[in-house]
Amino acid sequence: MMRIYSTLLVFLWITSLHGLSLVGLSGKPYSLDTITREGRSFIRPAQVCDFLRFSATTEQNSFTLVSQGDTLLVDGHSGVVSHTGDTLSRARVYVEDSLLFMEARSFFSLLTELTSFYFVFQKDTVLVSREPQLPFYDVSGVVVVDPGHGGRDPGAIGPQGTYEKDVVLSLSKALRDYIESVSHITVYLTREEDVFVPLMDRTAFANEKQADLFLSVHANAALDNKNARGYKLFFLAEAETEMERQVEERENAVIEYETTDANRGVIESILSDMMSTEYQKESQEFTIHSLETLDRSVQSVAPFGNGVGQANFFVLRGAEMPAVLVESAFISHPEEEKILRTSSFYEEFGSALGSAVVSFLEINGSFYE
Ligand SMILES: [Zn+2]
Repeated sequence: MMRIYSTLLVFLWITSLHGLSLVGLSGKPYSLDTITREGRSFIRPAQVCDFLRFSATTEQNSFTLVSQGDTLLVDGHSGVVSHTGDTLSRARVYVEDSLLFMEARSFFSLLTELTSFYFVFQKDTVLVSREPQLPFYDVSGVVVVDPGHGGRDPGAIGPQGTYEKDVVLSLSKALRDYIESVSHITVYLTREEDVFVPLMDRTAFANEKQADLFLSVHANAALDNKNARGYKLFFLAEAETEMERQVEERENAVIEYETTDANRGVIESILSDMMSTEYQKESQEFTIHSLETLDRSVQSVAPFGNGVGQANFFVLRGAEMPAVLVESAFISHPEEEKILRTSSFYEEFGSALGSAVVSFLEINGSFYE
């Protein structure tokens, strides 16, 4: 009895934490069967369509939706999503107890495209609307977002004790959520939690995912200048100014957290090697491109935008794609430290940087296509 009771409690806890609700036009929330894998929510397309009274059928692990004369087919084995015969994309799918689950964000973005409704993610709810809430871009590709530091490496620490590793994780998740809700781009994070990730593993992960863009997300600090504030975007090249050298030194200081002397030795020798300039031009282009969007959209710290910089950051070394490091705000500035703790900043900065990512890939296309 006790065992059943505790299982039930765990079940309730999981569903209340990760379960998605669909809020229809009537405003009534409808709780969706949700499973969570690798930090992503999966829902049953059949259940959603049943609730919305869309004409859909589920057969032998495949799901078919007919809307406005178009047919959407999701194959539960391969994850292949086809639209009136043409392969659209490959979605993350699971079949559990003969029920087909599909990654929620990609399913709702497909519904937004195929039906006359709009589906908007707001934390754990999905709002159904007749009005467009966010634009949707028909852009695909892969982006790796790297929340700096983590675990035993706190990164910079603000005057009120805020850790860089915590704020950059929240910001990175907001960035991912924005990009995935307005495009077909897949975003991977190098860490989802407060764990230590060795520097070399971060770009190795991006290379393995064949990412089109690698963004390392940080918060700046100037211990000798309490008035320094604002954001700055860096690409990999020799530092030219004293300020650039300071940021480079601080971000590369992470090396001391690497576990073995051998690791540290390798990192130091790589840092002194010649820098690859293969993606330097694209990386620089991305920083300039993003700056325009950030200067226009990020009101909270916009008047203090510090432009584009260059430095020899270890975390950008070895990336086989355009790679940039974003210093989102100064955690050492009392006001910006406060801003860095707010979800409105994550949403504001995340969506501005996210729209720069989407438009950059829209212009440049995917490197691996
Ligand atoms: Zn950092």
